[in-house]
Amino acid sequence: MSNPIESEINAFMDEVKAKNPNETEFLQSVREVAEITIPYMEEHPRYKEANILHRLVEPERVIMFRVPWVDRTGRIQVNRGYRVQFSSAIGPYKGGLRFHPSVNLSILKFLGFEQIFKNALTTLPLGGAKGGSDFDPKGKSDREVMKFCQSFMTELHRHISKYTDIPAGDIGVGKREIGYLFGQYKRLENEFTGVLTGKDLNWGGSLIRPEATGYGAVYFMVEMLKTAKDDFKGKRVAVSGSGNVAQFTTEKIIELKGKVITVSDSSGYIYAEDGLTTDHLKFMMELKNQDRGRVSEMAEKFSGLVYYEDEPAWNLPGEVDVVIPCATQNELGEEDARKLVEKGVRFVGEGANMPCTTEAVHLFQKKKVLFGPGKAVNAGGVAASGLEMAQNALRLRWEREKVDEKLLYIMRNIHAQCVRYGENKHGEIDYVKGANLAGFIKVADAMIDQGAV
Ligand code: NDP
Repeated sequence: MSNPIESEINAFMDEVKAKNPNETEFLQSVREVAEITIPYMEEHPRYKEANILHRLVEPERVIMFRVPWVDRTGRIQVNRGYRVQFSSAIGPYKGGLRFHPSVNLSILKFLGFEQIFKNALTTLPLGGAKGGSDFDPKGKSDREVMKFCQSFMTELHRHISKYTDIPAGDIGVGKREIGYLFGQYKRLENEFTGVLTGKDLNWGGSLIRPEATGYGAVYFMVEMLKTAKDDFKGKRVAVSGSGNVAQFTTEKIIELKGKVITVSDSSGYIYAEDGLTTDHLKFMMELKNQDRGRVSEMAEKFSGLVYYEDEPAWNLPGEVDVVIPCATQNELGEEDARKLVEKGVRFVGEGANMPCTTEAVHLFQKKKVLFGPGKAVNAGGVAASGLEMAQNALRLRWEREKVDEKLLYIMRNIHAQCVRYGENKHGEIDYVKGANLAGFIKVADAMIDQGAV
């Protein structure tokens, strides 16, 4: 028979499931938070009395809309657009836009829900949101992407502003898409304001914003390794993905003399026995950011690199010390985790949002692998977006060193919060517990202060 707390968690999840059927990713992210906060609320009944968890899992607003656009052959196409404005307890809604064919309400609700706690951890006044579309920018011309972005913003502009909701990029939404979205917002509202982050430097962007998620992830992992009296020098690091987060994670690890032995995309992975060099990375950045090519081309260009088609990076042939998944949700399952443990992994940090399944996380924790959840590890991106907003409001731009210094400070602070709420009496740190509790308490206290809204 299960204990009373377990029964309470299951009863809560049954209720959420009944209201949100088939939203598997959303339910997965809610369960993680419920498993940690429900036991905590037993000892802190004021949160239970204010019905915080039930209120938190209900988005403040979900906007869903038609996005019609004309393709290069003159045909009218239609996609679905979304913005999930989840929580404005501690600040205006903030979170990225994702353009990917897999996008649906469940995925955006999970991302928006995670964003609430992540944003709270940054210590900046930012609420949680996420949005996007099932539009696939891959294979589209620049002109088609522009037309889609303009149509998407023609609806979205009614629901956002620099004081209400400030979207950013995510998978499939980079500098190009942010430019087209911003242009259309400016035209419709007739104002030049910081309503989006991730803007180009020329017109209101912040230095370090492109690097921030990857650099921030590594800054967090440096602190994690320190708790084991270790560092990145000579470490074999498996990274997945080859997009924004993977690129700058790789750059920072190379700078710290670690060896990045894998990168990947949705077609396969590259294995670098001796670690990627700055030349490899430069080629990968051009390939992905300008030519929109595949990682397989890296092996065609450089002799020391091997390409494995249709396999995840976790199948890598050699040993590994650190794993940083930077591609997408649920890309690392229990079997992958088992293989990685056999290959010697000691530290895992989620560069992407929820890349590890619940079973994989439990296995890492059981095997005493230090595991950092995405809401803490990848919070550097939104933190730098918060710094971009601050610069826009002040109408000035800070130096690269100043933004980087603030990012480092924020990531160290997030790590310290994880330790504060996640360390047990034996000195072991449960980062999942620490990150969730620290984020939850901040948001819950604000909700209590603001009454039943
Ligand atoms: P990008 O679009 O720049 O890159 C995504 C990378 O992941 C690409 O290499 C892509 O490969 C790969 N990928 C995407 N979907 C899949 C899939 N279904 N299977 C295998 N590989 C896949 O995105 P970002 O780097 O910006 O984002 C990566 C992750 O980090 C996401 O989870 C995002 O939510 C999270 N994140 C991003 C932040 C940011 O600032 N950018 C901030 C915080 C979190 P392919 O080219 O084949 O599609």
